[in-house]
Formats: sequence, structure tokens, C-alpha cells
Amino acid sequence: MNKKTIQDIEVHGKKVLCRVDFNVPQDENGAITDDTRIRAALPTIQYLLQQGTRLILVSHLGRPKGITPKYTLAPVAVRLSQLLGQQVPLAPTSIGPEAEAAAAALENGHALLLENVRYYPEEEKNDAEFARKLASLAELYVNDAFGTAHRAHASTEGVAHLLPGVAGFLMQKELDYLGSALENPKRPFVAILGGAKVKDKIGVIRQLLERVDTLIIGGGMAYTFLKAKGYEIGKSLLDESNLEFCSEVMQSAGDRLLLPVDVITTDHNPFADGEAACNTAVCAADAIPADLEGADIGPATIQRFSSVVKQAGTVVWNGPMGIFEFAKFAEGTRAVAKALAESGAVSIIGGGDSAAAVQQMGFADAMSHISTGGGASLEFLEGKSLPGVEALQEK
Ligand code: ADP
Ligand code: MG
Repeated sequence: MNKKTIQDIEVHGKKVLCRVDFNVPQDENGAITDDTRIRAALPTIQYLLQQGTRLILVSHLGRPKGITPKYTLAPVAVRLSQLLGQQVPLAPTSIGPEAEAAAAALENGHALLLENVRYYPEEEKNDAEFARKLASLAELYVNDAFGTAHRAHASTEGVAHLLPGVAGFLMQKELDYLGSALENPKRPFVAILGGAKVKDKIGVIRQLLERVDTLIIGGGMAYTFLKAKGYEIGKSLLDESNLEFCSEVMQSAGDRLLLPVDVITTDHNPFADGEAACNTAVCAADAIPADLEGADIGPATIQRFSSVVKQAGTVVWNGPMGIFEFAKFAEGTRAVAKALAESGAVSIIGGGDSAAAVQQMGFADAMSHISTGGGASLEFLEGKSLPGVEALQEK
């Protein structure tokens, strides 16, 4: 990575504003259901505290419209305090006298968390005055929020023009894994793309097609490819406007592209009608009955995909192989995750649903890297530059 990190500058005793991504999932009572993102930021936080900094953490949570108590970071401050074994107070605001007072009261080696930065519409507008107020709290800026690095907001981009800005360890790790996959992958380099829509992943398909030895396409997006081949796909997901694109991809990829050879069909949609109503069958990919929907990859496809994964040097995976939210259609995703876990490949998981699937299925520890940023990892893999990274100091 060509950006400076917290290890490249003198941080000792400094007041540091650190953007983290504490946008954690919560249940209806506000309890945190998955603290992965908080734990992912701990190496940076612990390092900065050990260096005796006065650490001001800033994050968003959800999409509040103005000050909305439902989106308070209070539960996050509690969980963070537990994980750190040190009290992390929550400042009631992100800027202004209360935030300033909280920052001024900080002792070396201690942290505070500012209240949800998206309580202020100026944040997402990257408002210059708002960025100035945030920046005025500190002497240095650290960005460890990879998950929001694809957004040019005040706390992710604006402040980096006002304070010396460097990357935290999580940011560094994300960029190193994703960057070396694109630039210098151990071969064979295999990409597995899935999920719902072709539309969402056109840029990634284009970018990866130029780099991979094998491109595997499964999940809902595979059916538009099968349709473009002239197959009947029944009621499966179809992205009509991208049939032409799929034909082009198949032509330029040739035998580097692997599509499902068989699928699991269903006669009902599990989201609409419930899983119990779904009658399933295995079916060849070129013989899907007109009244059925493809909801997962089939056993022969699992075999093919798994054997490619097991021989790979690097695998980037984005998008589940089926409607993995339901057990009847989770087998393809589970099998691919298992093959990845058992392979010696460098395994990189990008995409929120893919990461959740790997975690739920118990394969997280076996992966080389699970990205904490769904949208950001997708944009990075598309070859786009991330504003929150661009604004940091060059090495
Ligand atoms: P990620 O978040 O990993 O990038 P996406 O958001 O693109 O993945 O896609 C995830 C969604 O794709 C899941 O909700 C899953 O149910 C859906 N999906 C996967 N396969 C199919 C399919 N065959 N038909 C309909 N939806 C599918
Ligand atoms: Mg998703």
C-alpha cells in the first residue's frame, strides 16, 4: 500500500481523530447482534492507546435523518468499553462545545467516542465547515473505516485535507489483501461471483475478467448468462437489460468462465411464500422447467466449482451461490465456503451477504481475509479509487 499508516508517523501523546466503522447490526431493542466491525478496529485502537494518544473515535450508525435517538452509538460505546477493558465515554455530539469539552477532558492513553456523525446532514455533504469543526478536535487523523472509504464524507475525506491523515491497521489490511489480489495474485487466480443481480456487478466482472484464470458465476446472476446462452430459465432471476453484456462476457472469457451445469429449482419463492412451501428438485441448467425458479447451484456444479477452488492460488469471492438465507437453498454457498476453507488458496471474501454467510456457516476463521466493507470492497475490485483512501498521505 502506498499510503502512510499509523506506524509511519509519530503519534505519541497526540490528539488523534480516528474514523472507524462501527455501523453494526442491531436487533429491534438496539442490542448489537454482531460486533465484528468493533473487534476489527481494536488493533488500531489498542495501538494508539498504547502510544499514549488521546483518542477521539468517530463513526456513523445506520441512516438517521437528523438527531434520531434510535441511532445512538451508546450501545457501541458500552461494547467497546467491554472489549478494551477500559471505559470509553460517549460524547453527546460530534462537534461543538460538548464534543470539545469531552475531548479536552481526555487523558493520554484514553479514548472517547463521538455521537453518530450522521446526526448531521453536513457529514454526507462533506461540508467544509463541518469538517473544520471535526478536525479542530485533534492534531492527527487516522482512517480505519474501510467500509465507508468509498464515500467522500466529512469524516472520511474532508478532515483528511485539514489534518495529516494516515491509515489504520484495518484499512491497511483490507487494501493489502484486495490490492495484492488485483495486482499480484498467487495463481491460479479464481474469482467467484454470485448474488442477486448482474447489474450490481458489471464493473467487477469487467475488471476481474482481465485478471483471473477462472471466473465462476453462480447465484441469481447466473441465470441471465444461461438465458443469454439461449436456455430456458423459467421463473429464475433475469436481468433483461444485461443479456447483451453477458453474451460479450461469455465470448471474451471463453473456457475461463464457469457457469452452473445444474441447479436446485423451487416452485415457490421462499421470501414470499415461506421455505416450507418450496418443493425443490435438481435440474440440468439447460432444462429448467418454465414454471420453476433456480434458487441454488446443483450437486454437479458444486463438484466442478469446488475442484477449481481447491486448486486455486488466490480466490476472491463476492456473492452467495443461492438464496442462502434458507436452508433448502444454502448448500451451494456452504459447499463453496467449505472448499475455500479446505483449499490452500489465499481466500478473500468481499460483499456483505457473502461475509455473513461465511460467518454463519462457521468458516470465517479458515478464510485469509473477510472484508468489513461490502460496497467499498466491490468498488475497489471494480478498480475505482476510494476517496477516503486517496485523501491520506502518500508514503
Ligand atoms: P453480497 O452482499 O455478498 O455482495 P448480493 O447482495 O449481491 O451479495 O446478493 C445476495 C443476495 O442474493 C441474497 O439475498 C441471496 O438470497 C440472493 N440470491 C442468491 N442466489 C439467488 C437466486 N438463485 N435467486 C434469487 N436470489 C438469489
Ligand atoms: Mg448484499
